[in-house]
Amino acid sequence: EEKKSLNFLEEIVEADLAAGKYKTIMTRFPPEPNGYLHIGHASSICLNFGLSLKYGGGTNLRFDDTNPVTEETEYVEGIKKDIQWLGFEWANELYASDYFEQLYAYAVTLIKKGLAYVDDSTSEEIAEQKGTPTQPGRRNVYADRTVEENLQLFEAMRNGEYQDGEKVLRARIDMSSPNMIMRDPILYRIKHAHHHRTGDQWSIYPMYDFAHGQSDSIEHITHSICTMEFVPHREVYNWLIEQLEIYPSRQYEFARRNLSHTLTSKRKLLQLVTEKYVSGWDDPRMPTIAGLRRRGYTPESIRDYCERIGVGKRDNLIDAGVLEFCAREHLNKIALRRMVVFDPLKVVITNYEGEGEWLHSENNPEDPDGGTRNISFSRELFIERDDFMEDAPKKYFRLAPGKQVRLKSAYIIQCDEVIKDADGRITQLNCSYFPNSKSGEDTSGIHVKGTLHWVNARDCFPVQVREYDRLFTVEDPGNAEGNFTDYINGQSLQVVENALAELALKEAMVNERFQFLRKGYFTLDPDSTPEQLIFNRTVTLKDSWAK
Ligand code: ATP
Ligand code: MG
Ligand code: MG
Repeated sequence: EEKKSLNFLEEIVEADLAAGKYKTIMTRFPPEPNGYLHIGHASSICLNFGLSLKYGGGTNLRFDDTNPVTEETEYVEGIKKDIQWLGFEWANELYASDYFEQLYAYAVTLIKKGLAYVDDSTSEEIAEQKGTPTQPGRRNVYADRTVEENLQLFEAMRNGEYQDGEKVLRARIDMSSPNMIMRDPILYRIKHAHHHRTGDQWSIYPMYDFAHGQSDSIEHITHSICTMEFVPHREVYNWLIEQLEIYPSRQYEFARRNLSHTLTSKRKLLQLVTEKYVSGWDDPRMPTIAGLRRRGYTPESIRDYCERIGVGKRDNLIDAGVLEFCAREHLNKIALRRMVVFDPLKVVITNYEGEGEWLHSENNPEDPDGGTRNISFSRELFIERDDFMEDAPKKYFRLAPGKQVRLKSAYIIQCDEVIKDADGRITQLNCSYFPNSKSGEDTSGIHVKGTLHWVNARDCFPVQVREYDRLFTVEDPGNAEGNFTDYINGQSLQVVENALAELALKEAMVNERFQFLRKGYFTLDPDSTPEQLIFNRTVTLKDSWAK
């Protein structure tokens, strides 16, 4: 078996294990519950859970819920469902908000060590006093407060005695550090806001830099993996652990994975939802896990995608074709083959005499255990309107007057007569069939080049088909000139009403995957009712975007 090379994080973990630094590892996935998970998060999930699965230990699901204004319980539930659906099991379900009391105690420890102070400056003043990367900053008078004064003020902040923005707690680190984040970063801010879990208990909330590393440490996370924008925060992360003398978690960074023709920012995705460009977070055009699921993507194909794109140190925009490729790869193996005619044209087999018959067709030629299904055949059928051409060129292998084609898993037919209405529109084809040409037992000796999908007029039934395409017309809408909403693909949803489906599809279930022959991969939309089945196109059979 080919040994896959390690990614840089696996190398770090293996070196740590080899050095005896740890026996097993702990990682965490730390979503902020302010939106649904997207395909970028899937990379982080596969990475974090993948490491602990490979090296032993576990991965905590930690909700990074320190910003009460944007967070909601709906998102917590959505995130849990999506991770489970992707196929991962967390060791513990945890909330940064559960640590508020402990974090407060850590802040008190810092104050007592003279390493934190309450500052009354406005955020503009603080920014101004920080200086510039080439100019050192300077502390203001508040930095001279005594430990007793700071302890008393910080408690008063906690007790809700001040308005939002009136005071902050800052770490006393280094106002001339070349790393601007080290210049006395804010640790706590006042916010009189209702929190989805702690209610109105708190009127101060810890900043990311204070909450994240300390939460990692409380949980004994060995490898805390975040994205590159946190590189400059690592210094604060280590400083706090050192000063507080707590469990030394370590932060590592990898580059964000972004996908072309879509967005991977929860804020922008939320805007698509609230401004109704899409039907919701789970609109099948959304790059959210919920949207991809509804679209028919499988967990396997998303994990395969994350594995293929790997982890690296440089940001990159992955072509949407890679994700679509992964979907085709998996769906080809598992999808049940079915026949659906999108734009029906009636075919009458004039020499067919019986009442009808049952034929058999394989569920999946890629799957030896896939079995077969019954499909009924009779005198009246439907084929696809654009599988017929009245004045066909010589190399046309579909149906044309006088020409022969095979109907999939059935017989060879020949078109004898074209019937039109008063406006000249073709309404019916009269054909004859060759009784000795039945699939699997063909003795007719006739060679045809085309095979068409079809349905039996007697038992087919109408369904709605939703054909999806990319949501944006440009590769990187998030960074394109102007507003990303300027680049929405107006053709990203095409609805086919009254497509005709073969009988077997009546039993379709939401978690099943289908290949509609010659059409693409489809899945049942959960909004379907027994009277109206709706099918979402996951992907086309081939990459129509390839140059
Ligand atoms: P957003 O900009 O969408 O809000 P975020 O990073 O603020 O993204 P979080 O909920 O904090 O969202 O993300 C949870 C974890 O997923 C973090 O560790 C984050 O680094 C990671 N993550 C988010 N987006 C991506 C991405 N595009 N590629 C890889 N990892 C990501
Ligand atoms: Mg975040
Ligand atoms: Mg965010």
